[in-house]
Parts: sequence; structure tokens; C-alpha cells
Amino acid sequence: MASLSLVNVCKTFKNGQVAVKDFNLDIKDQEFLILVGPSGCGKSTTLRMIAGLEEISSGELWIDGTLMNLTAPQKRDLSMVFQSYALYPHLTVYENMAFSLRVRNVMKTEIDKRVRNAADVLCISHLLDRKPHALSGGQKQRVAIGSAIVREPKAYLMDEPLSNLDAKLRTQMRVELSKIHKELGATIIYVTHDQVEAMTLGTRIVVMNSGVMLQAAEPKVLYQNPINKFVAGFIGSPSMNFIPVWVERREDRICVEFSKNRLFVNEECAKRLIDGDYLGRRVYLGIRPEDLHETGPKEQELKLNVEIKEVLGSEILLHGKIGRNPVCARLKPDFPSEAGKEASIFADMNRILLFDMDTEENIL
Ligand code: ATP
Repeated sequence: MASLSLVNVCKTFKNGQVAVKDFNLDIKDQEFLILVGPSGCGKSTTLRMIAGLEEISSGELWIDGTLMNLTAPQKRDLSMVFQSYALYPHLTVYENMAFSLRVRNVMKTEIDKRVRNAADVLCISHLLDRKPHALSGGQKQRVAIGSAIVREPKAYLMDEPLSNLDAKLRTQMRVELSKIHKELGATIIYVTHDQVEAMTLGTRIVVMNSGVMLQAAEPKVLYQNPINKFVAGFIGSPSMNFIPVWVERREDRICVEFSKNRLFVNEECAKRLIDGDYLGRRVYLGIRPEDLHETGPKEQELKLNVEIKEVLGSEILLHGKIGRNPVCARLKPDFPSEAGKEASIFADMNRILLFDMDTEENIL
């Protein structure tokens, strides 16, 4: 497997569209690196530049210590898996998986060994004689991944490979991909829109916006310590709630106030706010739906005017307003609440985040 390095990589298309700006990243051997970000932020372009399907406007791409900018895609020794399965309809599963090796004149016995091994890893050995039309979506996607595996590439590049599958198959394939990653010791660079895929598959997640990498970190770090309001809002589902608040000193303690609500912050948070000269200023309070609870101390209580109650089985989502601020809370299913009524919920003050109003950077 391989390590990759992108140094100041930029992409400007012929029409002047800047898709990627100054992208710097070292991808370690065996990493499962996820690229996430809103539509049009440059994820696919970044992946396609690594694959060699898109020219790099400026900057450097290194694979295992070799500069690869001008190397043809087929000579980069990378396998790409797309969201469309790209199988040959007239060939069997076996022949589809063997195809790329046949054109490279790999010996028949070697092809057979690799195809059967990959089929085994992907649990599709019983499908080798079938043609694509006789496969389910999930099975087709496994064959597409199988075709990538048999090539034994240095790294896998995957562009939303599960997005055409229904929710159940997606979950199954997600688990499969995780296993494949471990079994093959593969380096994988993976583009997705899906929060859950990003959080569960990634050893590291890169969050992009408008062609710029905002933060690259382990999923837990991104979730707990996002660099700014954008990353905080992008990671986690439902999204973090953001409420503009005033930072004040009351009863010799530091608190945040909004729409007749007052929440005292913990000592560490108070210190940061004082050190950052935020007293008397406005900041964004960030609190995740899962950090609003059914019970808690009176001084952490908030009154939520419930507008919509979504029952999800193992939990409920209450959507409503605190003052004028839209807020979502994720609570236990037996929590007494109703649309049109007020609910008392409690903010976990050890889990809040605060963001500068101007720079939107994380203050804590
Ligand atoms: P999505 O999640 O919707 O697939 P993305 O993050 O993968 O989006 P890209 O496909 O990398 O985004 O596109 C980044 C930007 O570059 C977009 O603004 C897009 O419109 C633009 N772009 C992509 N391909 C071209 C092209 N061939 N010519 C001009 N602009 C392009």
C-alpha cells in the first residue's frame, strides 16, 4: 500500500472556476481518509486530481515519494470506485473482476487466485457465474469493489460508492467496507455526503468548503473540537444548534444570556471568555441536539416551544424555538412532550461550544 502527499495543490478550470485552493495533506499508509463538504466544495475534483483524471493546475502530488503530477492515470497504480457500478453487462461477475488483469496480460492462474480471493473477502463467491442483470444493487457494488481489489493497487479512490444503495444495503456495505479496509490493510481516500459513513469509516476526516480544506482530524476530534462554526455545523446529524448570546458576569460568575435565558458556563469556559476579552460581547453558543437533556440542575433549564415532534423509535427529536432561536433536541422516547406545548430541557454545560461572532472560530 501507499502513502500520498498533496502539496499546495490548486485546481482552476478553463472557465476560471477555482475548485480547489492550496490543498495540503499527507495521507499515511493504510489510512481511511474521508473527504466531506457541501455540494460543489471540490471533493470530487481533489479525488480526480489524485487519480490523474483531472490535471493539477499548480502544486505537487507525491505517491510513495515519487512526484506524480504528469504520470498517466493507468500508471499511478490507483483503483477508482465510482457511485455508478460500471460493470460490463455481457460479462459474468468473474469476467468483470478479471477484466483489468486480462488486459494487463496477467497469468491465468494468478488472475484466478486474485478473483477468488477478492470474491471471498466480499462474500460474492456464489455469484461468480452470474451476469450483472441478475444482481442486486449491493451485489453489483461489491463486484465493482472486487474489480478494484484484484488489481492490488497502491490505494483506492472511492467517490460516493454507496450513494445509489438503499438505506439498509448502505449500512451493510458500510460494515463490509470497514472489514475490507482492515483485511486488506488498504489506503483508501473516500468522498461522501453521508455523515454516518464519514464518522464510522474514517480514520481521519477532511472537511472542505469552497475549495478550501478547513480541518483534517480524527472523527472524534472533529466532533468534539471543531475548528469553527462551519465544521461544527457540518459534522453531526441533526446539526449543532447555534444561538447568538451575550457574555456577561452575574453573581460573580460568567454566563451567556439570550431571550430571557441565562446559562452559567463552567470554569474553563469562563477563563477562555475572560482571557479572550469576550465579556459584554456577543458570541454564538453551539450545543448539539444530543447535549440537551430531559433532566438537569435548574440553572441549566431552557424552555423549548415545541413545533414538531419526530418519533424515531429509540429516540425523539423535538424541533422548536427558544425565544426566537430555532433549536432541535434529541431526547429519550418516553420524554413527555407535544407539538404546540412548552418543554423543559437542560443544557449540558460541559459540552457546549462558543464561537466568535466575527471570525466564527471556536473560542474554547
Ligand atoms: P458534489 O458533492 O456535488 O459532487 P464536489 O464537492 O465533489 O461536489 P466538485 O465536483 O469537485 O465538487 O466541483 C467543485 C467546483 O468545481 C464546483 O463549483 C463545480 O461546479 C466546478 N467544476 C467541476 N468540474 C468542472 C469542470 N469540468 N469545469 C468547470 N467547473 C467545474
